[in-house]
Amino acid sequence: MGYAPTMRPEVLYPLFAPITSLSGIGPKLAAAMQKIGLDTVLDLLWHLPSGIIDRRYSSTIAEAEPDRVATLTVIVDQHIPPANRRGPYRVQVSDDTGTMTLTFFHGRADWIKKQLPEGEERVISGLVETYQNQKQMGHPDHMVRAADREKVMIVEPVYPLTAGVSQKVIRNAVNQALERLINLPEWLDPAWQDKQDWIDWAAAIKSVHTPNGPADLESISPARSRLAYDELLANQLALGLVRHRMRAAKGRASNGTGNLQAKLRDIIPYKLTGAQSRSLEEIRDDMSGPHKMMRLLQGDVGSGKTIVALFAMLQAIEGGGQAAIMAPTEILARQHFEEISGYADKLGISVVLLTGRNKGKPREEILSGLASGKTQLAIGTHALFQDDVIFDDLRLAVIDEQHRFGVHQRLQLSKKGAAVDTLVMTATPIPRTLTLTVYGDLDISRIDEKPPGRQPVETVALPHDRLSALVDRIDNALKSGDRAYWVCPLVSESEILDLTAAEERFKQLSEYLGTERVGLIHGQMKAAEKDAVMEDFVAGRIGLLVATTVIEVGVNVPEATIMVIDHADRFGLAQLHQLRGRVGRGSKPSHTILLYDPPLGETAKARIAIMRDTTDGFVIAEEDLRLRGTGDMLGTQQSGLPRFKLADLAVHQELLAAARDDVELILNRDADLSSPRGDALRHLLYLFERDQAVRYWRSA
Ligand code: ADP
Ligand code: MG
Repeated sequence: MGYAPTMRPEVLYPLFAPITSLSGIGPKLAAAMQKIGLDTVLDLLWHLPSGIIDRRYSSTIAEAEPDRVATLTVIVDQHIPPANRRGPYRVQVSDDTGTMTLTFFHGRADWIKKQLPEGEERVISGLVETYQNQKQMGHPDHMVRAADREKVMIVEPVYPLTAGVSQKVIRNAVNQALERLINLPEWLDPAWQDKQDWIDWAAAIKSVHTPNGPADLESISPARSRLAYDELLANQLALGLVRHRMRAAKGRASNGTGNLQAKLRDIIPYKLTGAQSRSLEEIRDDMSGPHKMMRLLQGDVGSGKTIVALFAMLQAIEGGGQAAIMAPTEILARQHFEEISGYADKLGISVVLLTGRNKGKPREEILSGLASGKTQLAIGTHALFQDDVIFDDLRLAVIDEQHRFGVHQRLQLSKKGAAVDTLVMTATPIPRTLTLTVYGDLDISRIDEKPPGRQPVETVALPHDRLSALVDRIDNALKSGDRAYWVCPLVSESEILDLTAAEERFKQLSEYLGTERVGLIHGQMKAAEKDAVMEDFVAGRIGLLVATTVIEVGVNVPEATIMVIDHADRFGLAQLHQLRGRVGRGSKPSHTILLYDPPLGETAKARIAIMRDTTDGFVIAEEDLRLRGTGDMLGTQQSGLPRFKLADLAVHQELLAAARDDVELILNRDADLSSPRGDALRHLLYLFERDQAVRYWRSA
């Protein structure tokens, strides 16, 4: 049983109407507004003002303070058309205390005449300036009749814009959206709402769009906090429902004899670290328990997740079942295969590699081995998902580099058997606070310790004008058999632009170092092409790999000792850290060089300092969050973290924890969401479009 998502409640329809349903918004404006995420009426309601213009100051012309926005009541005296083409159109206005000139550049005379008929009284609002001792106002923002004075003398919200969309357009659209605002059943716990002294949802929306002063723009203002809480509650509830369902789902105890695992312990040329052993214990407990395992194994690059996964897979195999591990790319899958098949031979278990490259007869043979149960361990890519891949008895599905896969894909593999335990692995160090928002449906094990004996990676910052010295150094390193990465910046959200930068650098470096020693890899290449270049690099056929930010996650090239990050100031901390993790995997000391164009801004300086001071991915992730907040679109996009419209986890962390607790209570009392509050919460889920994830899980 459990919460059964139905269709979107009808009361919400008007909110999900496209913005083109508003008057004054045609396809062209809609296309422009879409660029900042404004598709529906609801998006507009959530498009919060970033500033205000206070028009409540009013005075006479003589007393009007210069350089301040004022609302004045004046008589229109005289229109003075421009003397020449480039001159402004001027309108002389006055009150009892003096005169003032309104200036219009590029103004259409007939339009201005209509707005300001000579001899009539008008209320104007705009920035008052002085020019040659004379009061002046350029392009008043408002020119209305005296009767409409109250409508103008307000605090006006200022919205984030995009090219082709003016304040006026957005404001007009938001106002229309506000008219469609409906009262929804309250989904907050009454005691909690009381304690916070929060107004209801519709009132909160209205309030954020009618700020009274700068304090109302703060994320911690009561109205904004309430909306942030709504969003976090929806996020936690969606994950919580999934979690609840998984807990309730029947699992299968995979106890294992421990024989294979004991053997593996003898074979591996090292001892597991404390963190690895601890994580493994947690995984084994889950697997031998009655419920389905849904666990995340989080550990920095190089922390040794693969071997932990192998132990877990052996437990499944000891119990007579099968296990599979899926990697996001062909090359990673192959790397796992090479490492694991070496051990598997000695353990006497049979392993296959299944990727998109297996076709025809060989593929059929692989499939028949899996279907009969003869093959105990499958390593592969997305190819493992395919419908005709059937397992005899899949007990454990491991998904490596989880952030490369969507939530949905997490499940596809686990559907390949009855009550399959799932272990997902990620190297993305996520701050503890954020972990809840992404992986709230999973139990978490952390490998927070690196295997001993790793060479530390030295990190230096270098201005671009020292480039040629750097290239000389790389030249020497390549001659001694080392390999190097050169990562080019993310100059925009467009991979095409990034590519130009990378291609230019590639050309320049090939000229200097010789074409045969330098390779280029980028996101526009086909998967097979990327794999081919990566293989050349792994095998040492090329020594320097120039890449856009897409270089393969988790690829292990122990000979790589140099990581150059071009325009390092344009990368987020988490990303710099990920990139650095690609070197320092062998026995030789490694270096990360952060190239930059001086002068550096404060944030860039702080980032570089942190990179030099610590190599702990979790510390870096926390600092990253602190430095940029979660609002940074580029940064969050890259790291695969959720993007919130209203919540800012840099300030709303406590609300997130509260939402999490709230959801625990909700699910304990009313997992079907069948109470009146449960019904209200469904509205909330639909409002934040979290219903999809839930529906997906239902069919799982
Ligand atoms: P990641 O967590 O990034 O996937 P890997 O599993 O690829 O890391 O491990 C990186 C390297 O560390 C591998 O070569 C692996 O053999 C080695 N390794 C793993 N655990 C240990 C350990 N406890 N001691 C020494 N080396 C280890
Ligand atoms: Mg790995």
